[in-house]
Amino acid sequence: MSQKDWIDKDFYKALGVQKDASQAEIKKAFRTLAKKHHPDSNENDPKSEAKFKDVSEAYDVLSDEKTRKEYDEIRSYGGGIRMPGGFGGGGSTGGQGVPFDLSDLLNRSGGGGGGGGFGDVFGSIFNRGPSPSARRARRGADIESSVTLSFDEALQGLTLPLRLTSDAVCGLCQGTGAKNGTTPRVCPTCQGVGQVNRNQGGFSIPETCRECHGRGLVVDDPCPQCHGSGHAPSTRTVQARIPAGVRNGQKIRLRGKGVAGENGGEAGDLLVVVNVSAHPVFGRDGDNLTVTLPVTFAEAALGADINVPVPGGGTVKLRLAEGTQNGRQLRVRGKGVRRKDGTMGDLLVTVDVAVPQKLSATQREALSAYSAASQDHDPRAELFARAKEDGGTS
Ligand SMILES: [Zn+2]
Ligand SMILES: [Zn+2]
Repeated sequence: MSQKDWIDKDFYKALGVQKDASQAEIKKAFRTLAKKHHPDSNENDPKSEAKFKDVSEAYDVLSDEKTRKEYDEIRSYGGGIRMPGGFGGGGSTGGQGVPFDLSDLLNRSGGGGGGGGFGDVFGSIFNRGPSPSARRARRGADIESSVTLSFDEALQGLTLPLRLTSDAVCGLCQGTGAKNGTTPRVCPTCQGVGQVNRNQGGFSIPETCRECHGRGLVVDDPCPQCHGSGHAPSTRTVQARIPAGVRNGQKIRLRGKGVAGENGGEAGDLLVVVNVSAHPVFGRDGDNLTVTLPVTFAEAALGADINVPVPGGGTVKLRLAEGTQNGRQLRVRGKGVRRKDGTMGDLLVTVDVAVPQKLSATQREALSAYSAASQDHDPRAELFARAKEDGGTS
């Protein structure tokens, strides 16, 4: 059984015990019910069979203190309806004559603002001085999302529609958590207050009601869509502006595009993690772009004007000086990445002298002639001279 199912299953109710029942009480309740609904004594009775299953499942979870604790936690977090301060009145008996018509109340809520609508409605209608902690304006949570951009898109920046899924009030039950046609009932334990007074050493200590987890209401028939939580995922599209020059792994913070705040609190932010695809030719070095430029030996030795590609199409002419060495880095100003202040980085061009792998007869002849003309120049003379040096302290 997945823990997801726990949210809408009341195992305490299944066994007919209190939330704080001891293991002995749980065991006793299980034995009694299991005996009563055991398939052996209830042949062809699907109702009993279902009941027997429920009771067994409940006992499995509650008889293990560790699992029971997990279950209690899931149940309390899963309880979506926040009922700050409870909704007061005289509870289910209507002692103070407060009409309890949920659908009427909800129609007046006008949809509420982002998740906390139900609590707001009760808070204002019953005008009951809700507890300050629950009513405090709360900033909405930040959402993190990620996008993958091409190299050129990252250089130029763009506006992207991002589909975001976030928590909102369940549309089917309007956030009550109760199945259509049913209403949550006032919690019998706390009479809807959400708190009970515990007597300890002669002192009365208020604590969150365990029956309703402070909601003041209990849901008997959970909404099938939200399983009683009152929350449901909702999808919206946000236009995310990604600035030019964004780097791989960079986080863009879009203020106010996260989860809506509660009780007038500001919305959270949307954090977009940007992944930038590698480019087959260009690289990034901070605000500069890099590219490796193959040139011939003749171009490097004699000097040349060479066309260099730039990102986004187009070329720029680069002057190669006579005698340019292999690996030399040349700078083309203003052809790099756009900075925040609008200025541009540079394009750094690394010269790569290409050695031909195949030579035509003419080329071979020309190179042989060149070689013969270079007899006087030994490129390794200095190497050998210095190899003899001790390289020590001198
Ligand atoms: Zn309660
Ligand atoms: Zn629902």
